[in-house]
Amino acid sequence: MNQYDVVVIGSGPGGYVAAIRCAQLGLKTAIIEKYAALGGTCLNVGCIPSKALLDSSEHFFNALHTFKEHGIDMKSDPKVNIGQMIKRKQDVVDQTVAGINFLMKKNKIDVLRGHGSFENKNTINITKEDGSVEQVGGKNVIIATGSKPASLPFINIDKKRVITSTEALKLDEVPKHLIVIGGGVIGLELGSVYGRLGAKVSVVEFMDSIIPTMDRTMGKDLQRVLKKNNFEFYLSHKVKEVTAKGKTVTVKADNAKGEEVSLEGDYVLVAVGRKPYTDKLALEKAGVEVDERGRVKVDDHLQTQVPGIYAIGDVVRGAMLAHKAEEEGVFVAEVIAGQKPHINYNLIPGVVYTWPEVASVGQTEEQLKEAGVPYKVGSFPFKASGRARASMDLDGQIKVLAHKETDEILGVHMIGPRAADMIAEAVVAMEFRASAEDIGRISHAHPTFTESFKEAALDATAKRALHI
Ligand code: FAD
Ligand code: NAD
Repeated sequence: MNQYDVVVIGSGPGGYVAAIRCAQLGLKTAIIEKYAALGGTCLNVGCIPSKALLDSSEHFFNALHTFKEHGIDMKSDPKVNIGQMIKRKQDVVDQTVAGINFLMKKNKIDVLRGHGSFENKNTINITKEDGSVEQVGGKNVIIATGSKPASLPFINIDKKRVITSTEALKLDEVPKHLIVIGGGVIGLELGSVYGRLGAKVSVVEFMDSIIPTMDRTMGKDLQRVLKKNNFEFYLSHKVKEVTAKGKTVTVKADNAKGEEVSLEGDYVLVAVGRKPYTDKLALEKAGVEVDERGRVKVDDHLQTQVPGIYAIGDVVRGAMLAHKAEEEGVFVAEVIAGQKPHINYNLIPGVVYTWPEVASVGQTEEQLKEAGVPYKVGSFPFKASGRARASMDLDGQIKVLAHKETDEILGVHMIGPRAADMIAEAVVAMEFRASAEDIGRISHAHPTFTESFKEAALDATAKRALHI
């Protein structure tokens, strides 16, 4: 039986990054993956393919709706070639996965194919496709087995008409009417893909706002823009029945008054969250426990209650985000190597890749109110930005929340063009505990979207934005 310093189970962004950092620190490392492709949810059926389709559909949308105003006339309207779009997405995925294979080789990490499960706390069984079992030993084990789509107990996901994000990334036609259950990140991103390609999109959301965990201003603004682009919203609606018959799907829900609403479409995307994945991992053989939501229990060092067994990423508490999983992968590798790393969970940014994009870091206004923290608000609308006018991206705003007395930035919430990239400046500022005035006094290149962050900071610090 081969012995390793570290055995990682699962090759998503948590697992493969943990393996690379372990190898960099001189630890003999193996990674176990049950699928042929490395990279987990993120690379294969998550972040990367969804962004590939978002980019393609955005090109189509712009060709159809904004080229004319830019002075670009086309002989005829552009047409969607969904087969090519999905093929390009798969090429992007394949190339990215190939990159991970390369990184494993480069770092001399042994890649072991098969389903990993505990024999005991230091021995892992790897069940191959042909049923044979290989065993490896690990002084330390990192569980990085990720998550799977969640559903509702009465929904039968037939993967044809009633689908999850995985199937929505490979449809062979543009739905006429896509009904999305859940107005969170997946529902709005994948709804946007098909909305831009011409589908009518109806979002049925249980809460009274879309992206309800983000700052409320973001959900309100995003809903307003999406409504202009083929979206309809059914907020405060509780779905109670989903049926599929032939090519027709029906979703029945009760609204806030208890009245029944019935929607008919050709596809239903169920996007009500994801659940941790620990199936057939035999955690009990190692003595590892899960909590009431099925997440592997860990302490502040991401160690389970069994010394030497750690868990990271979607399978543990916290945001289900690739970059959070990556940070945790690095963290655990460094803990194993005897270092004292740190993660600031308050400063893990969150992004929704709709257009306009939504990005956020730190506390929301609702959280500050609830915690009784004295705060001031600064904001700046993109319609006052020269750069946004030039690119015709006038929807949205940047909102800066700063401490009322100290002026320290406590939260930044953006909805607008390239917010996903712009949020990095806010993360850096907050890591260094910048005040709003610090940002207001830093030179920002003109004309850029980032000037709007400076203006919102000036507005927060002393209501002295220059361009509103
Ligand atoms: P995963 O990526 O789920 O990887 C776990 C791996 O473990 C899988 O490969 C699985 O096959 C393997 N595995 C499980 N059990 C075993 C076993 N017993 N033996 C061997 N192998 C096993 N996050 C972002 O930050 N940005 C985004 O833009 C974004 N977009 C997303 C879009 C979609 C449609 C979805 C579904 C998710 C998206 N996410 C995004 C979330 C992101 O994909 C996850 O947070 C991230 O993949 C979690 O990484 P992980 O390493 O914890 O687990
Ligand atoms: P989510 O938690 O973002 O949204 C789920 C939504 O479904 C919520 O708004 C919730 O109120 C609603 N909901 C729950 N039960 C419902 C019901 N019975 N009826 C109607 N609505 C209901 O989850 P998701 O969109 O499925 O995404 C799963 C995870 O994947 C998220 O944690 C997210 O962080 C991650 N993800 C991230 C990105 C990104 O970073 N851009 C993209 C996609 C997915």
